[in-house]
Amino acid sequence: MKILVTGGSGLVGYGIQSIQAQYPEYEFVFLSSQDCNLLNLAETRAYFHQTRPDYVIHLAANVGGLFKNMNYKVNMYEDNIAMNMNVLKCCHESNVQKVVSCLSTCIFPDKTSYPICEEMLHNGAPHKSNDAYAYAKRMLEVQSKAYREQYGDNFICVIPTNIYGPYDNYCVENGHVIPALIHKCYLAKQNQERFQVCGSGRPLRQFIYSADLAKLILWALLEYDEKESIILADREENEVSIEQVARMIAREFDYESQIFFDTFYSDGQHKKTVDNRKLREAYPDFQFTDMQQGIRTSVQWSKENYENCRK
Ligand code: NAP
Ligand code: GDP
Repeated sequence: MKILVTGGSGLVGYGIQSIQAQYPEYEFVFLSSQDCNLLNLAETRAYFHQTRPDYVIHLAANVGGLFKNMNYKVNMYEDNIAMNMNVLKCCHESNVQKVVSCLSTCIFPDKTSYPICEEMLHNGAPHKSNDAYAYAKRMLEVQSKAYREQYGDNFICVIPTNIYGPYDNYCVENGHVIPALIHKCYLAKQNQERFQVCGSGRPLRQFIYSADLAKLILWALLEYDEKESIILADREENEVSIEQVARMIAREFDYESQIFFDTFYSDGQHKKTVDNRKLREAYPDFQFTDMQQGIRTSVQWSKENYENCRK
């Protein structure tokens, strides 16, 4: 059985690569934009005809942190709509047995009650900072459901929180908060400057380590039989403030005393706390990586791979 992973060269794609040996009965194929431009339907179709996957884990996306979402709304909207259109269409045409696509907790409504659960996805506008990305991602859920209802295709979606880990995008301007802060702390220490954290440090976020998410995505593909989307998140109690995250990172560099909060920059959405009850009930034994440990591994990886990592 062949599992095609789109976005195979990204943060989560590498998370799956790191655990693929635990699934020896499956053949994994990891697709990057070098192998096929998923924005192009003809290329995508040709790739699927040639590869003939049994299962697809659809991770490929135009992804970025708060500031990329604010500054590149057209790209975030058009690229994600186009990639999802092409990938699901080709999965259908190629009779793929099951597709697991990746949404994000940042696409839930901004004005909402907490904790947020799966059913609330379309109950109001997303936060304005990332609305273009969020609406495009919401349409992936709509499209998956449409394929289920019209054709009986087994296309489902998972909804992870913020993700971090080795092979992240360490770009200071466009990356997510953890890789951007790791890179900024690295440079600050090297240049003996203060370590700038954007915004007030007060927003709250839930994080998941990329290898944990990889295991949960494979579980969703191979063992989770429901059709409705499922949130993949650690417990609500493990939500942290951006200040706590910055301190965890600075601790790994022994540079805590130099942190400052630059309120010129946006805080984005204050919080998007999700409920992981559905996951806990379906997979009660799952153990999440401790966050300080996950950050230690990510910092170590970024130091060892500084020259060649995405940044
Ligand atoms: P990532 O590290 O930025 O990787 C993106 C992947 O998509 C790369 O493999 C990239 O290939 C591929 N890709 C982009 N444009 C493509 C194109 N035109 N054709 C083919 N492939 C293309 O992203 P990630 O963080 O792993 O995210 C994986 C999934 O999780 C995404 O669906 C994202 O929306 C979701 N998610 C991410 C987060 C987070 O905090 N990172 C949070 C929640 C949900 P190249 O390497 O060749 O460019
Ligand atoms: P979000 O969770 O979708 O909003 O995306 P991010 O992963 O980019 O996290 C954004 C939060 O981290 C906001 O509260 C930002 O103000 C805060 N933050 C602090 N410093 C940085 C930084 O250097 N880069 C990014 N992307 N966010 C930062």
